[in-house]
Amino acid sequence: MKKIVVLGGGISGYGSAILAKKKGFDVFLSDMGKIADRYKSRLDEWEVPYEEGHHTEERILAADEVVKSPGIPEKAPIVKKIRERGIPVISEMELAFRYLDKARTVCITGSNGKTTTTSIIYRIMKDAGMNVALGGNIGESFAYSVATGDYDWYVLELSSFQLDGMYKFRANIAVLMNITPDHLDRYDYCFQNYVDSKMRITQNQKSNDMFIYSGDDEVIAREIPRYDLRSRQLPFAAKTAIAASAGDAFLCDGEFTASVGGRSVTIDMSRMQIHGLHNAYNAMAAALVTLSAGVDPREVERSLYAFAPVEHRLEPVVERDGVLWINDSKATNVDSVWYALESMTRPLVWIAGGTDKGNDYTPLKEFARRKVHTLVCMGLDNAKLLREFEGVVPEVVAFDNFEEAMRAAKASAKQGDVVLLSPACASFDLFTCYENRGERFKEWVKQNA
Ligand code: ADP
Repeated sequence: MKKIVVLGGGISGYGSAILAKKKGFDVFLSDMGKIADRYKSRLDEWEVPYEEGHHTEERILAADEVVKSPGIPEKAPIVKKIRERGIPVISEMELAFRYLDKARTVCITGSNGKTTTTSIIYRIMKDAGMNVALGGNIGESFAYSVATGDYDWYVLELSSFQLDGMYKFRANIAVLMNITPDHLDRYDYCFQNYVDSKMRITQNQKSNDMFIYSGDDEVIAREIPRYDLRSRQLPFAAKTAIAASAGDAFLCDGEFTASVGGRSVTIDMSRMQIHGLHNAYNAMAAALVTLSAGVDPREVERSLYAFAPVEHRLEPVVERDGVLWINDSKATNVDSVWYALESMTRPLVWIAGGTDKGNDYTPLKEFARRKVHTLVCMGLDNAKLLREFEGVVPEVVAFDNFEEAMRAAKASAKQGDVVLLSPACASFDLFTCYENRGERFKEWVKQNA
């Protein structure tokens, strides 16, 4: 019997293990850390053997195939050993894809905007009454849904790490939001490696599949001619109008029209509940996807206007004494902060900092100069932010703890201001994750602002 080892017992791992078990393989799951109780009870229920806190090498290296969770880096010693033995390593997506049957996939990737766009697409399809599951980086594990459900559509948010473990996988509708530097620490500090990984979203696509992408993104524009793309290409853009026969979307004067095969929808961005140029891109991509999937344009329009911001993404928390507090804790790289600052129309107190991922802050400086009167640096090591923004922003202050940083932000905010938490950095120095940082921000604001 074919032996499958699943590395990592998080959401993607437990789902993969259960799917492999259901398909009759000899499965073993191994996690270096702790496995959450909710996943353990499901593994028990399906009688999948597992270990936590260590890796039993002989058992892992006896595998015919390994399903690796996207969070485990290539440089992890066990992964190196698996590679040395030449054991094939795939991702949850690749495994689940083998058992999709007639179901179709919408796959969303990009450096920023994945979760928002995925959530909008899911919402529109669900509202339209389609039999659809949400998976990938959000929602339920894709593999678990394939093992236990019977869906017509899967809407999947894919990180570059998941794409790296995908070989035969084919997206019926692929969406590429943008490509800007991120996670370079996992790509040998080589941007092109990361770009190649993102472009894998188009692999294996056939002539009746769709590729929806940002026509404004210079990296994508440069990459497309290098590939022999068979799919129908549908760009969305606000700057560069690209004529496309299969369909397209273009934003002009705060309004966009998305058209696919003679069916179209026109959306007035000022009537939407999510704002900023970046959300116009997200909404355009979602409109192209759902029109391609056959949703009635009136339903697309209705659901787009009803869509509310996703938690931790430019999420308004409260307006008190004329100061609006916004939680954008998920902005963990420079490009996402660029869009956050771009969308702000009031004077700003900007809270940034955390674990720097090799950031180049240059693109933020013009907005910072024009819009930010106080930058509050919040992190264990603020030296780089201080160096980059002193002289750009009138007031720059720095703290190595959350409480003091928040008090300073409050003291600097004047009536009419926005206090924006949009860190441009990972959260692991002072918090457990970006959700934890956002939760603490919101709690503090509700009690103290
Ligand atoms: P991801 O899942 O790719 O991290 P999210 O939808 O969670 O993307 O958004 C992350 C951050 O990026 C948000 O805080 C938001 O400010 C910003 N953002 C959202 N959409 C876009 C976009 N299309 N382009 C650039 N930045 C974006």
